Amino acid sequence: MPPRVRLLATGGTIAGAQATPAAAGYRAAVFSAEALLAAVPGLGELATVEVEQVAAIGSQDMDDATWLRLAHRTAAALAEPDLRGVVITHGTDTMEETAYFLHLVLPATRPVVLVGAMRPATAISADGPMNLFNAVAVAAHPAAVGRGVLVVANDELHFAREITKTNTTQVGTFRSGPRGLAGLVSHGRLHVHAPPQKHPPAPPFDLAGRTSLPRVDLVCAHAGMGRGLIDAAVAAGAAGIVIAGVGDGNLGAAALTAARAAATAGVAVVRSSRTGGGVVARNIEVDDDAAGFIAAGELNPQKARVLLQLGLTRTQDPACLQRLFDTL
Ligand code: ASP
Repeated sequence: MPPRVRLLATGGTIAGAQATPAAAGYRAAVFSAEALLAAVPGLGELATVEVEQVAAIGSQDMDDATWLRLAHRTAAALAEPDLRGVVITHGTDTMEETAYFLHLVLPATRPVVLVGAMRPATAISADGPMNLFNAVAVAAHPAAVGRGVLVVANDELHFAREITKTNTTQVGTFRSGPRGLAGLVSHGRLHVHAPPQKHPPAPPFDLAGRTSLPRVDLVCAHAGMGRGLIDAAVAAGAAGIVIAGVGDGNLGAAALTAARAAATAGVAVVRSSRTGGGVVARNIEVDDDAAGFIAAGELNPQKARVLLQLGLTRTQDPACLQRLFDTL
């Protein structure tokens, strides 16, 4: 008997349709999960795939409520004793955020694999069917256990914490940072080439009973930045602000004054970088100790935002939040 794998569908370009196969324009989240599976020959030899449609959206519309629903549905699937793993179809725009969110709230007992596509299902050379085939193969594979949430794209296997989208349209859009890929997967054959990540016995955050997440706003720094957007985030009730700073997480004097005032008022302020690479460490050009800021370390702004949302469910203390950023 092939192993059981649950497919939780959320939409995205992998389920998208164009008016004609050569058209650039398309609508995401048109096809059902069943229709996606029907386009993948040979899946039945890998696994018995059961489907559940959790959402039908382009992932630019992913929000806290859908994250919570998806986490609960995935956790429920993982609790079924004879289910081998879970595959989640998802748009690529916010795939990295959802993957990291789920990574932080789900047990690593069985594989959870996110998958999407850059080309709609109706496109010439659609990349979705092979990605989906590979994702099911990974979810059904014992070697994928204990590595946290994974993402399959373009024959590569990425860790949730490392993956980021780097290109607007190309099939090879996803890259992993200096810690590297989790492995490769080609025609359903898995080549794991990194040791399992360190995992705590339980996921770092528990969503039990939670129906919402703290508001965290993301503000991008730039030359000539004023204090307006940071003040606006505070006035709108943000519990946290992530700044995608210039260079090493820097921001100009006016914005820095606003960020300091926000931190003094009890808003958690995280400095990250808009550069797309490197580490934002504490107290380089900004005195984080004096300001009560948190440095994002290796996390890009969008992932820092996810961790801050979850971190704020536990603590508002900047030192405790910094420890989460240093370890997760
Ligand atoms: N906008 C789409 C989405 O994120 C893009 C994609 O899936 O590739 O749903």
